[in-house]
Amino acid sequence: MNTDSFALRHIGPRPENISEMLQVIGVDSLDQLIYETLPDGIKLEKELDLPEALSEQEYLEHITKLAAKNKVFKTYIGLGYHNSNTPPVIQRNVLENPGWYTAYTPYQAEIAQGRLEALLNFQTMIVDLTGLELANASLLDESTAAAEAMNLLFAVRDRKQKKNKVVKFFISEEVLPQTIAVLETRANPLGIELVIGDHQEFDYSEDFFGALLQYPGASGKIYDYAGFVQKAKDAGIKIAVAADILSLVKLRAPGELGVDVVVGTTQRFGIPLGYGGPHAAFFATKEEYKRNVPGRIIGVTKDRDGNLAMRMALQTREQHIKRDRATSNICTAQVLLAVMAGMYAVYHGPKGLEYIANKVHKSTVALANSLEELGFYQLNETYFDTIRVKADVEKVKQIAEASEINFYYPDANTVAISLNETTSLTDLNNIIAVFAHVAGKESHKVTTLEKSILENISVSRDTPFLTNDVFNRYHSETELMRYIKKLERKDLSLNHSMISLGSCTMKLNAAAEMLPLSYPQWGNIHPFVPINQAQGYQEVLKRLEDQLTEITGFAATSLQPNSGAQGEYAGLMAIKAYHDSKGDTHRNICLIPSSAHGTNPASAVMAGMKVVVTKSTEKGNIDVDDLREKALKHKDNLAALMVTYPSTHGVFESEIKDITKIIHENGGKVYMDGANMNAQVGLTNPGKIGADVCHLNLHKTFAIPHGGGGPGVGPICVAKDLVPFLPSNPIIETGGTSPISAISAAPWGSSLVCLISYAYISMLGPKGLKSATEHAILNANYIKQRLNNHFKTLYSGERGRAAHEMILDLRPFKEKGIEVVDIAKRLIDYGFHSPTVSFPVAGTMMIEPTESESKAELDRFCDALNSIKEEIDAIEDQENNLLKNAPHTMEMLTMDEWNFPYTRKQAAFPLPYVSENKFWPSVKRVDDAYGDRNLMCTCDPIEEYMDSE
Ligand SMILES: *Cc1c(COP(=O)(O)O)cnc(C)c1O
Repeated sequence: MNTDSFALRHIGPRPENISEMLQVIGVDSLDQLIYETLPDGIKLEKELDLPEALSEQEYLEHITKLAAKNKVFKTYIGLGYHNSNTPPVIQRNVLENPGWYTAYTPYQAEIAQGRLEALLNFQTMIVDLTGLELANASLLDESTAAAEAMNLLFAVRDRKQKKNKVVKFFISEEVLPQTIAVLETRANPLGIELVIGDHQEFDYSEDFFGALLQYPGASGKIYDYAGFVQKAKDAGIKIAVAADILSLVKLRAPGELGVDVVVGTTQRFGIPLGYGGPHAAFFATKEEYKRNVPGRIIGVTKDRDGNLAMRMALQTREQHIKRDRATSNICTAQVLLAVMAGMYAVYHGPKGLEYIANKVHKSTVALANSLEELGFYQLNETYFDTIRVKADVEKVKQIAEASEINFYYPDANTVAISLNETTSLTDLNNIIAVFAHVAGKESHKVTTLEKSILENISVSRDTPFLTNDVFNRYHSETELMRYIKKLERKDLSLNHSMISLGSCTMKLNAAAEMLPLSYPQWGNIHPFVPINQAQGYQEVLKRLEDQLTEITGFAATSLQPNSGAQGEYAGLMAIKAYHDSKGDTHRNICLIPSSAHGTNPASAVMAGMKVVVTKSTEKGNIDVDDLREKALKHKDNLAALMVTYPSTHGVFESEIKDITKIIHENGGKVYMDGANMNAQVGLTNPGKIGADVCHLNLHKTFAIPHGGGGPGVGPICVAKDLVPFLPSNPIIETGGTSPISAISAAPWGSSLVCLISYAYISMLGPKGLKSATEHAILNANYIKQRLNNHFKTLYSGERGRAAHEMILDLRPFKEKGIEVVDIAKRLIDYGFHSPTVSFPVAGTMMIEPTESESKAELDRFCDALNSIKEEIDAIEDQENNLLKNAPHTMEMLTMDEWNFPYTRKQAAFPLPYVSENKFWPSVKRVDDAYGDRNLMCTCDPIEEYMDSE
């Protein structure tokens, strides 16, 4: 056995387990199982054309060599991205800690109180700094957050505006270029008309429903927007502001002016630049718009015992319920990064942030004065961290780059310089030296920082922030380390047990894949540096694109979208651009099977398409007759079909090639949702089944950790016809030859975490990838068989096999008063996170073990479910039983009184394995309805909340 092989570490079942597992399933070989699983005619004939697998050591050497090709200059480009110091205590205990990064989205609130609290801290920080009432946790980047703000303002137009079809949205020319590009992409399909200009010359016409301002402006200039906001409001125009989070420490909160939405990024709160991401964006608004907020909102509620508990609030707004009428298509957000940014605020507290903001600002004042002394004209009257000087760009650039310094050059005679938390006095003097050289003068060394220019003026902040206890308690490393640990212990992550989330593919996130994220040569690269300074990144990204292109059987890949849902949107926009290029601008019908994930219809609507739902057959497959009928009916306007393969029902439909053919014959393109790619890699591919574009969830199939609900990467891979339309970026050249405008702020989206998928593919190689898929199918079918006596699998393929996941029908247990959530909560007592609940069929669970789980873990899980079935059979009291009272907390178990019709041992240690590794839920069952009725989304003192009842 080659113990250097990464496949041996990634794949759970040991070679010696395989025959036993096959025997349980009732097949002779893995090949036989795959034959029985995959329909005829879609199997790949050849191995993937990818380099042979690297061992973990070889990969780490390889990636270290590539890292050396990135040149880490001192970068003062700004434009929404700034170097910052990641506090080592946060780097080690959150970013590098599988307890945090392998967690799932906190749907099972009872075993997610840790990250829910961390996210509540994040929301509180945003509410305090923006001066608004409500914040979410979190969005993908500042630019898409600004697009969501525009979307919200469009949706909440008053009756008169809707009647008069008011569709104009004003964007200040001081908004960041990448944000303007994303807004251009997003406005068009919704019928929003953008007008870009100088806000000081705006005419406050009633033709506008909203406006977006940048604070401070992209130039670095700070405007007092009070007058603008007042006049706009008088004209019925609603305002969104994109704000720099650190400057808000010094500046008047936009919420105080009465603006409607404030967005921005929290990257500079301790998150590495990572060549563009991932970083958490924020979105704050007024209480009255709470039902229109995109993304996740964490809210406070109580548990069965009346104890304070948190969970995701107002979920009925979201795409998984509202589908084509959802407030947004956001599913995966940036949870891990939001946790880190929130912890940065916890660590520094209000005084620490004030110190940092002052240091950055006063350094900038010192720089401005020194450059003026050298004879350079500085353009910004008021500024926080960014100045602009008139100078010969060519000269400055040459000398600066020779000194390994990057500035931003908006035109041939202007140099923009943004300072940040990491800028030292030495750095300051090095910048000054560049300009002294250009001017041919001697420079004075700066030895002390100058006075702030932001005190006692109209824009200065005079309201307190982060007054809450949590921001004033954990300022020593010991205290913060323990606080982080305290929260971590409340959360069940992959380092405790299997998280078998159907459709979400929670597989191993290997340490070797994660290690390089901490290298400064990957972390400290600004997304807008000249390409020749990012050669390491360019190589990795290009190779990853090629790997994904090969895996999908397509022609090209764009890594720009920051989540699966963004990928869907990007892919549909590429389809739309293709139709437009053929003069078929009217093609706008998108067929979507009823079983599709909620993001599909939500994305189609964002792309300006009309959703037509097609039926499923009794067996859970696409009803091909219905599909054909609808494709024919809409043939003149058919734009696309969105199809998940294998289906969300966990089945490889044998008719898939007929389905794609029908769509093509009627002029449409086929969008394949790639969330289930884990069942395909190396065995078949979207190109083979006849699709034209798919997104891949790199945070599912390709090993990027779920992070508790993000980050994600949702690249799109496209067939030849769609290559010209891949998305661009306004600052760095990327994308197709007739590209759609930007989908995300950064040219290659969340580049830093692309390293993980690159590692995954490089270390598995063509054989390992295929083997991983086969073992994913093996594990799923093993579970299916082991649960067979007690649970009915809803759908199977033609030869009786599941693909990589299966749906268990739990509706029969209603007879005993048991709902699917009762089983989900009871699994917690057994130490397991529930599988996916009620998607895609209500009253069911969808189980996806992935290839990474060992036979021993699968057995524990099956033992748990089978044991729960026996508990259900034994139920006598439908209200008071092991399932209805689950999960059982330690507090409950150790009460002096015990009035339940079962023993304490049955409650907490129902099977022998549980006592070896008990996971205690920190709260009892959480009351969702109560929390939605009494929405509360900041961490104000508990008493205040309970008093307000
Ligand atoms: C996860 C998933 C998505 C959405 O991906 P995000 O990255 O969460 O936006 C879309 N479709 C299916 C079937 C999924 O499982």
